Amino acid sequence: MLTRTQEGSARLQEQKANMEACIRCGLCLSVCPTYLETRREEESPRGRIALALAVTEGHITLTPAVMRHEENCLVCEACTAVCPAGFHMEPLALAFRDAVQRRRPWRRRLLSTVLSPLAKPALLRFLTRLGGLARQLRLASVPSLIGLGRVEAMLPQKTGRPFIAQGQRWAPATNTSTHDGEAILFAGCVMSTLFPHVHQALIELLTAQGWAVSAPTGQGCCGAIHAHNGLLDDAKEMARRNIQALEKRGDPIAVDSAGCAAFLKGYGRLLQDDPNFAERAQSLATRVRESTELVASRPLPPLASAPGAVTYQEACHLVHAQRIVAEPRALLRAVPGIELRELPERGVCCGSAGVHNLLHREMGDALGQRLARSVRETGASVVVTTNPGCALQLQAHLAGSGVRVRHLLEVLAEAHQAARQGTREKAAYHVS
Ligand code: SF4
Ligand code: SF4
Repeated sequence: MLTRTQEGSARLQEQKANMEACIRCGLCLSVCPTYLETRREEESPRGRIALALAVTEGHITLTPAVMRHEENCLVCEACTAVCPAGFHMEPLALAFRDAVQRRRPWRRRLLSTVLSPLAKPALLRFLTRLGGLARQLRLASVPSLIGLGRVEAMLPQKTGRPFIAQGQRWAPATNTSTHDGEAILFAGCVMSTLFPHVHQALIELLTAQGWAVSAPTGQGCCGAIHAHNGLLDDAKEMARRNIQALEKRGDPIAVDSAGCAAFLKGYGRLLQDDPNFAERAQSLATRVRESTELVASRPLPPLASAPGAVTYQEACHLVHAQRIVAEPRALLRAVPGIELRELPERGVCCGSAGVHNLLHREMGDALGQRLARSVRETGASVVVTTNPGCALQLQAHLAGSGVRVRHLLEVLAEAHQAARQGTREKAAYHVS
């Protein structure tokens, strides 16, 4: 048996119909980032499907090369979005990685083990503070000590921002015309630790639109990074915990990380075989609203002018996995003075893909540079995104270029703050 467990093997067998849906038309090749970079069939969606199917049916053995081609996939879902036959890459990638987890090189398995504790926001915050302190004291930090020094370059330089505490509730702004409904904030792990200012921007916008916002206790990491790295059972456990924390009310769940939103929307599929959670997971998934969807669903609060050329990087898990295209652009265009310049190459993964860029540095760097070139070509001084991984990758690859990286919600909230304060100053973009 090539795979980890009977259960893992069964999960791969369950993907046979998905794999057999592929009619080998090749439409997906032109959108696959690893194919675009290598021009190799085995680094394309069609090639990966053929290899995985051959392994599943026992026609070939699981060689290191086969594993490498499968694990090089960024699970960006660009192939899924264009496939005319209905093939879906994410479930196949998750099943394959779960099934072969123990066949991975020891460094990959070590990282998988290190990832699990990060599901606890309190520990992640502690490590972040430790890292900030180490930077101030110019000491070797935790990531560099365990061989992940590259993480350092990607972390936001400012630390010490207040984290969003679970259990908090924010009332709607008093001067809004609508006071209607409550939105649940999905805090997440990376977002609540490294990007609490984005949560604050979302809360400010939603309350200005008349929503009350609350952050229920008991929620944690969505589980996407674990699932994408072969820890499917851990991801399921996290999904169950989030369901228990978030299912008490029927309110929409606001998520300001595109990757988390996409994964939360897939909880129904993730837990479809769990008799206690299948229905609850499906019900929760229908309430998940990616933040730009939710903000765009109500009239925007007043926004001050913020003149400048801005380009927009579509996160894969926004555009391919959730098919959200119009809302982010409409929101940006709603800010007076913003000139939205589209990237010359759209929809190609930035190379971050969770922790993929740390595990596959060459491909991560090639795709990061590819995107950075595209951003620079626009001449925009700001690039806007909606996903933390993309933001960190952009920051690393645009360092020194003068182009600033912002979350879309920050841009909107800042324009709203300027309008609210009645200032004559134009809203200015600042690097976070
Ligand atoms: S587009 Fe779909 S059917 Fe065509 S080769 Fe790609 S995965 Fe197969
Ligand atoms: S998910 Fe992305 S990287 Fe993986 S095969 Fe599809 S297009 Fe290529």
